[in-house]
Amino acid sequence: MKFNTKAIHGGQHDVDPAYGSVMPPIYQTSTYSQSTPGGHKGFEYSRSGNPTRAALERAFASIENAKYGLAFGSGLAAIDAVIKLLKPGDEVISTNDLYGGTYRLFTKIFEQFGVKFHFIGMENAENIEQFVTAKTKLIWVETPTNPMMNIIDIRACAEIAKKHGIILAVDNTFATPYLQRPLDLGADIVMHSATKYLGGHSDVVMGALMLNDESLADKLYFIQNASGAVCGPQDSFLVLRGLKTLHVRMQRHCENGKHIAAYLSKHPKIEQVYWPGLEEHPNHEVAKAQMNDFGGMISFVTIGNNYDEAIRIVENLKIFTLAESLGGVESLAGHPASMTHASIPKEEREKTGVVDALIRLSVGIEDVDDLIADLEQAIGN
Ligand SMILES: *Cc1c(COP(=O)(O)O)cnc(C)c1O
Repeated sequence: MKFNTKAIHGGQHDVDPAYGSVMPPIYQTSTYSQSTPGGHKGFEYSRSGNPTRAALERAFASIENAKYGLAFGSGLAAIDAVIKLLKPGDEVISTNDLYGGTYRLFTKIFEQFGVKFHFIGMENAENIEQFVTAKTKLIWVETPTNPMMNIIDIRACAEIAKKHGIILAVDNTFATPYLQRPLDLGADIVMHSATKYLGGHSDVVMGALMLNDESLADKLYFIQNASGAVCGPQDSFLVLRGLKTLHVRMQRHCENGKHIAAYLSKHPKIEQVYWPGLEEHPNHEVAKAQMNDFGGMISFVTIGNNYDEAIRIVENLKIFTLAESLGGVESLAGHPASMTHASIPKEEREKTGVVDALIRLSVGIEDVDDLIADLEQAIGN
């Protein structure tokens, strides 16, 4: 089955043997009757498993070409489960330009339990090798990165991980499997904040893991059930519905992204545009090799790097909503220095490029002429 068919039908066989409903029913139940102790019909308790969630988990597996899918109550809950594979003393090598919540989870929660994290630049994957020790158990990659849109070569990371027997996990939230399938490139685990493009409508918080290795899947299922950060049946239904249009939404996100990146690149008031589809992007060739298209996430900096001007621009936008998050049908704008990255000291954030005037756009699927007109009036000339 090809991707566009999988987005609609993947894992969706026999979801309702009772009435043949086309969409999986929302099984709003915590428990299931048993005819005799242990005599159940496949489900015992909804933390351990729920038929609506199970349908979603099969769909998750299908779109990433994975054997196993697991759904969690948020993207961070999914990451939390992956780090719980580790023990005190184990080491993780992670991308340095990382989703802020992931960085907080690693440093404020798991460092206390004795897991050691190395945050490094991975745009040159060879850089990873010097941090590998006998204790390295996991390489954590985010690509494209947030908000700088750096691209990391997943194949090159997979080679290093395989050579040293390390698990490679990729946060595929920004790209989605429509654009990039890390398991096919050699990764062991794919993670998503399904809150973003997979759900696609800014109405659900959810996380996902997809993988092929059976023993790793057993361990992660054990953690999912033992720690209990599962998602409910209503949210599972909403994300199943969102997935069915993932390919058409992504196609439009990419088209609009391309037009807006081109518009911003030519704007006299703009100094720098970060979008992996631009030829001048430092890792454009890697992006071309591992992604089918370049997505709708764009960051840019105005000339003069003026904090107040950036605030004025995001406040003046009318169609773009000033908000955190991304990946929904509606366009959003954010100012990382005062929003998502405000807790990182100025010198630290500027090292990775998050300067005062950086603005991040999640380009939605509205008419691109309206989006460009909105940017035009907000940026001025
Ligand atoms: C939002 C996000 C997360 C965290 O997911 P939640 O669903 O908000 O818990 C992790 N990684 C990336 C890249 C994200 O954008």
